[in-house]
Amino acid sequence: MKAIQIFANQYQKEMGWEISEESYAKSRDSLLNNYMLLTTEVAEVAEELRKAFNLTASYVEHGKDEEQAFELAKKQIKEDIGKELSDCLAYMLKFYNYFEIDVEASFYAKMAEVKNRRNKDIVSPTK
Ligand SMILES: [Mg+2]
Repeated sequence: MKAIQIFANQYQKEMGWEISEESYAKSRDSLLNNYMLLTTEVAEVAEELRKAFNLTASYVEHGKDEEQAFELAKKQIKEDIGKELSDCLAYMLKFYNYFEIDVEASFYAKMAEVKNRRNKDIVSPTK
């Protein structure tokens, strides 16, 4: 288990925010609640993107070049979208910890699986 996962595990315990393991009913409620909170945080990432697109449109209306306007908008949302992505990561780490899954091992294995699956989908033009 890597540092960020260990930190999240300790942090969640310290705050009393870990997913309940008391009973099936409590675990089910806790898992569903945390899943709901994760999806809320994912929506907050979308809000930041919307903010960036609205800012871009506003800058363009005021005469800025579209690419420059978007670069400016990205800089303006960077800190807040980073916070929302961190919120998402915190909930995801909770699930990894509850199921005792090593984040890095799982992530690299899944990325390899996706890469292999994608390569299989590519049909050679000579076939
Ligand atoms: Mg948030």
